[in-house]
Amino acid sequence: MASTPALPLDPTALRADFPILATRVHGDRPLVYFDNAATTQRPRQVIQALVDAYEQHYANVHRGIHWLSEQSTDLYEEARESVRRFIGARQRHEVIFTTGATASINLVARTWGDQHLRRGDEILLSEMEHHSNIVPWQQLAERTGCTVRFLPVTDDGQLVLAALDQLLTERTRLVAVTAVSNVLGTVNPIREIVARAHAVGALALVDAAQSVPHAATHVVDDDADFVAFSGHKMLGPSGVGVLYGREQLLDAMPPFLGGGSMIRRVTLDGFEPGELPAKFEAGTPPIVPALGLSAAIAYLEQIGMERIGSYESALTGYAHEVLARVDGLRLLGPPPAHKAGIVSFVIQGIHAHDVAQLVDQDGVAIRAGHHCAMPLHKRLGIAASNRASFYFYNTRDEVDRLCAALQRAQRVFRRRGDRPSAFKG
Ligand code: PLP
Repeated sequence: MASTPALPLDPTALRADFPILATRVHGDRPLVYFDNAATTQRPRQVIQALVDAYEQHYANVHRGIHWLSEQSTDLYEEARESVRRFIGARQRHEVIFTTGATASINLVARTWGDQHLRRGDEILLSEMEHHSNIVPWQQLAERTGCTVRFLPVTDDGQLVLAALDQLLTERTRLVAVTAVSNVLGTVNPIREIVARAHAVGALALVDAAQSVPHAATHVVDDDADFVAFSGHKMLGPSGVGVLYGREQLLDAMPPFLGGGSMIRRVTLDGFEPGELPAKFEAGTPPIVPALGLSAAIAYLEQIGMERIGSYESALTGYAHEVLARVDGLRLLGPPPAHKAGIVSFVIQGIHAHDVAQLVDQDGVAIRAGHHCAMPLHKRLGIAASNRASFYFYNTRDEVDRLCAALQRAQRVFRRRGDRPSAFKG
């Protein structure tokens, strides 16, 4: 196979930490897990942290006076501290635990959005957003009468930054963009976009669901006002995510959900909200998932985010080279230099769902469909695509297996002659 630069991270050694990667499927085919943009797998260290939490430390947090509750509370707050350090936030209470990126974005839309936006105000998104960073703003527009606008995307899946000149005005109140496209892997110039938003007096929200797991994050240097991401896409358990928000903004925002923990005082006549971060963590929070996320962060930090980023970028370059040789395969998005470890494509004459089903027979797990980004697919003029998304435990050998599986899928289709694809659209 073609030569690529030496890879400084040894995925083989790390794979041993991930029991699920040794799974064999459809008889005796080794699993190739290329659906990491949907969710990653967990190493033993994270699984063990979850077991330890339930076996040794579990009680509700911020409530009990008893020893176990105090221990559980300390660990939960230590988890918050490890997130703070990992993303470079100034204050621990700027880290709000949510159930995921979707919940984090909805929190901002329902609180800051409802409080500040009116008819005539504008929110600027991009055409490459995940539905999680579109629908909450459309719902906000329905509630308040504000307008949602979209920064266009080029044919090769990059933001048309020149359009900011027209789209950013004194009416723009918020710019909410993804740091990395979950479909195309495009890495967006977040710092530049945040600075442009601030220049017109707008706030900036970064959907970092696909960037935090793969590259070092510095929320202060990026200057973002809000940052949202999910634990399960970065080796952590599902059920926990993060909203980072600038202290003054979070302080001024009304609470989202009401209930236990988020109050200072409740009377029969009303309530007074509590301090950050409790104000936004009503009810029993995702205690054990937060401890799991902290263990995931420790694991990632031990490898080093720079090493992860450069390994994945070499693997992506390799995937581009190899996949480009598959007959009739069209790679979507920009060249590897502008993207993270996500490679999407369409194969002429075969529906994406058929492709995914056929390569699954060879043990290769890829995604098919619109990947929760229907407007982007419409912009690209396709109904569906296939997506292979990598993490540091994936290998070049696995990319070769994807390639071989795609070639086999094509042979199967050719043998079937012109029998139409089972899937329409
Ligand atoms: N934003 C992006 C870019 C994503 O890729 C995803 C999930 O795929 C989300 C938001 C939503 O994340 P979750 O489903 O964990 O809330």
